[in-house]
Amino acid sequence: MALSHSLGFPRIGRDRELKKALEAFWKGELDEAGLRVVGRQLRAEHWQLQKDAGIDLLPVGDFAWYDQVLTHSLTFGVIPERFRPHDGKPGLQTLFAMARGVSKGCCGGAHAQEMTKWFDTNYHYLVPEFTADQQFALSWEQLFEDVDEARALGHSVKPVLIGPLTYLWLGKAKGGDFDRLDLLERLLPVYGEIFQRLAAQGVEWVQIDEPILVLDLPQDWKNAFERAYNLLQKEPLKKLIATYFGGLEDNLGLAASLPLDGLHIDLVRAPEQFPTILDRLPAYKVLSLGVVNGRNVWRCDLEKALDVLRHAHERLGERLWVAPSCSLLHSPVDLAREDKLDAELKSWLAFAVQKCEEVALLSRALSEPEAPAVLDALAASREVQASRAASPRIHKAEVQARVAALKPEDSERSSPFAVRIARQRERLYLPAFPTTTIGSFPQTSAIRLARQAFRQGKLSAAEYTEAMHSEIRHAVEVQEQLGLDVLVHGEAERNDMVEYFAEQLNGYAFTRFGWVQSYGSRCVKPAVIVGDLSRPQAMTVEWIRYAQGLTAKWMKGMLTGPVTMLMWSFPREDLSREVQARQLALAIRDEVVDLEEAGIRIVQIDEAAFREGLPLRRAEWQHYLDWASEAFRLTASGVRDETQIHTHMCYSEFNDVIESIAAMDADVITIETSRSDMELLDAFEAFAYPNEIGPGVYDIHSPRVPDSAEMAALLRKAAERIPAERLWVNPDCGLKTRAWPETEAALVNMVAAARQLRAEF
Ligand code: GLN
Ligand code: ZN
Repeated sequence: MALSHSLGFPRIGRDRELKKALEAFWKGELDEAGLRVVGRQLRAEHWQLQKDAGIDLLPVGDFAWYDQVLTHSLTFGVIPERFRPHDGKPGLQTLFAMARGVSKGCCGGAHAQEMTKWFDTNYHYLVPEFTADQQFALSWEQLFEDVDEARALGHSVKPVLIGPLTYLWLGKAKGGDFDRLDLLERLLPVYGEIFQRLAAQGVEWVQIDEPILVLDLPQDWKNAFERAYNLLQKEPLKKLIATYFGGLEDNLGLAASLPLDGLHIDLVRAPEQFPTILDRLPAYKVLSLGVVNGRNVWRCDLEKALDVLRHAHERLGERLWVAPSCSLLHSPVDLAREDKLDAELKSWLAFAVQKCEEVALLSRALSEPEAPAVLDALAASREVQASRAASPRIHKAEVQARVAALKPEDSERSSPFAVRIARQRERLYLPAFPTTTIGSFPQTSAIRLARQAFRQGKLSAAEYTEAMHSEIRHAVEVQEQLGLDVLVHGEAERNDMVEYFAEQLNGYAFTRFGWVQSYGSRCVKPAVIVGDLSRPQAMTVEWIRYAQGLTAKWMKGMLTGPVTMLMWSFPREDLSREVQARQLALAIRDEVVDLEEAGIRIVQIDEAAFREGLPLRRAEWQHYLDWASEAFRLTASGVRDETQIHTHMCYSEFNDVIESIAAMDADVITIETSRSDMELLDAFEAFAYPNEIGPGVYDIHSPRVPDSAEMAALLRKAAERIPAERLWVNPDCGLKTRAWPETEAALVNMVAAARQLRAEF
């Protein structure tokens, strides 16, 4: 028999119980005991769900109050000075302080630890902070308590830990330049201690996650793997090392030969690892195959997975384990909760609970191939595959024909930038250092209430339109008073920059409970790309036309770009990301053209997630960058030279992708720069980036209002790097999370800074 196991389960709860409890706790409406009760209930429920689904070995240690990397920092005593509790004993307050910061008042305040993306997922972890003299000491009992808790409930468990190399890799050296790898020898004894404690609790197997083995690793990190695991080898417990999100590639030999008892690999992301791995794996080792996608919402093709598993089973027998590709943290919890999906679509989907059932079924199919339940499930899976392959809901001949007919010139503007910008300047007649904003204005509770009332049918379409028009009027009035040059309508009608468009496109579906944790108590509910995508009718034109009618200044049309639409949705698995991006590009291109026809002269196409789409391995970057920038150009190239295309990107690393940013050929790009003191522009300067740039002159993530001198100083720094005639003046990002008073105050100063610069240049 092949054992079935799960690498981790979503912790947020079917009804986001953890989110609700955390937020109540932070508001002081729930006490710590109450919060702990919710945590205990969720853990118990999640173990039971997995067990009922048929999983043999359950994960423990995947529950975290905020983030699993943060839990590890507490476990190892990696608590930055500013959060150290006076009595030396960290508690939940310490944990939340590290996650969320402490506002001034108590102990002078402390800023939260930095947060960043967990590999190529939309999950964010808290970056460990290491000092050169970092000490490690077992400082948090949660893992052992959770193990006791699970065993008391009669479960057979496998604690999950992030491995020492991945943990160090994810952290940052603070205060002085030193190599994080130098900390390894100090960290390993804590792992030893943990293994001993777990062994004493009666644990047999532990899962050690080392996903960095799917990255391009420097040689000294590869060497460190051998050193570390040779040392840990002598500790008790059987150890399964887990890799996911990609293939081991050049690390395959290393991973296979580490002195451990088992290896997990991701066959969804990197199916080509099989069967190579069989020849590289020492004969005593367990091989866990991740065949059910932990990152998406589609049912597994059981026949296909079983083909691989049967082959592996013949070679490995009981040394084969079956699993999801990665932790199920990245998929929604339970499809059974979806009461509004039609039966056909529902039959195509699987969330975490259903994925566990698939894993269990696959493992059972190996030992009991003729069991009626197995035969039924395989028949059902075949039917799902067949119905999807032929479904007119998925396959749209017109969309496919349009993509197939694309020619290279469809992704090129008619003239080069130099020609376009001359025409645009003549027509737009903007001052030097033109001022604008990124799109959204404060999403007040009045706006959210109106949207909610409209959705619930309490507000008629006409009333809702009027409510939004009144928001637009207000936004336009404020912008005119401020003296901004290029105005926006404010995006009041948009719940979210992806969902708003997804809802208006053909080919998308929406779940009611498909929440996935993004960070802490924050969850996202990505829309699902089901079929070929198209735009049945204009999506934004009426709002923008209305807004333009209110002012003699230029109104900027505002759209979300194809790459961002794709990255923030659950994509199809039966079509490449590249083709899905092209379909989205054509749909949004139609909107750009319609805006132009409606008299709009400037259109912004946001690509906030452009960089996020980068593959984990360098060798795959160029291919991605090529199709991603092409998709953007395809979106932008349906308009005349004199129509100005803007794009916006809110992240801070451009160095290694600047060539592709330039290849997007947007007339104007607005970026986040204020926090980096304009240093971000170095990449643009070094590359001699030819088009116009709006470097953000203030940070919208904070309520602080910088004065105009500060912004003018930043603009002068920008002008040292980029010729002044190509600079725009704008905030870092959209203003939807801000309140009106600070927004107006900051924009007054921003406009003053622009005027100051005009006088100087
Ligand atoms: N236009 C969007 C806004 O202003 C852009 C948001 C983003 O880049 N994340 O809100
Ligand atoms: Zn932004």
